[in-house]
Amino acid sequence: MIDTRPRLMVGPLATKTRPSSCNLDGNVNLTQKNTRSSTWLVYERCVAAFAHEQYGDLSTIVQPNVLIKGAISGIDRQIDVMVDSRWNNEPYKRLIIDAKARKRRINVNDVESFEGLMKDCNASHGVIICTNGWTDGATKRAQDAITINLLSFEDALKYEWVWEPCLGDCNKNRNHLSRGMVLWTEFQLFGRGPAWLMLQTGKCDGCHSFHVWCWDCGEKFAVPDNDVVQCACGLYWASVPESKDSGHVGEPESVWLMMREDMDATHILPTVIDRRPIR
Ligand SMILES: [Zn+2]
Ligand SMILES: [Zn+2]
Repeated sequence: MIDTRPRLMVGPLATKTRPSSCNLDGNVNLTQKNTRSSTWLVYERCVAAFAHEQYGDLSTIVQPNVLIKGAISGIDRQIDVMVDSRWNNEPYKRLIIDAKARKRRINVNDVESFEGLMKDCNASHGVIICTNGWTDGATKRAQDAITINLLSFEDALKYEWVWEPCLGDCNKNRNHLSRGMVLWTEFQLFGRGPAWLMLQTGKCDGCHSFHVWCWDCGEKFAVPDNDVVQCACGLYWASVPESKDSGHVGEPESVWLMMREDMDATHILPTVIDRRPIR
């Protein structure tokens, strides 16, 4: 069960920091990776990394900048961060997070529109993370299903180091603001012969591609949808969107990251590594 108890977050939140300075008027002086990004994008990314620290574990996925089809509206909905089950599509466990880098406080209208997004995305819990607090009306309206937390811009920046540039095609975009970055998440261990395969996965917030960091060979790479990539130690990594061809019945709900040791050994089921919801 996801812990959504309200927390007030002030003070240092992480120990690994990278020197940077900024203010919310857009006078951003970020070092290294996010130099090209706008203020809100930096905040959104830092909130996603913060959410991973709070909610990430082996049974969940924490995905930045999610695009899914609204259950009620039928149109594409953008979600800053989604925490969802890793192994199944279980929307009743779904938590969505909205990052609001605002100069003003969060009010009743913000909470109500966020609640509408939650319903359309089948999320049972929601968290609004904001830079400048909230009104009494907002907390009353939020009730149990929505938590409002404070994360100042300065504290959020302590999470900036987690992100790395996308290794896929979107890193070639002419407009640097549309070049995605990758949030690396949980370490995973799989038995492989007498030893273990150790790996980490991530997802790009631009092209949404799965990323793999195979610790056996040390390679880091993107796995584009409908594609298979072989790493230096010989493992095959595939991104498989659900479809009739992939044996899925009904509306496609997820894209799966799978791993095979041998592409010819089709009698051995591939190992499921990660999931990306599309509904
Ligand atoms: Zn990308
Ligand atoms: Zn490898």
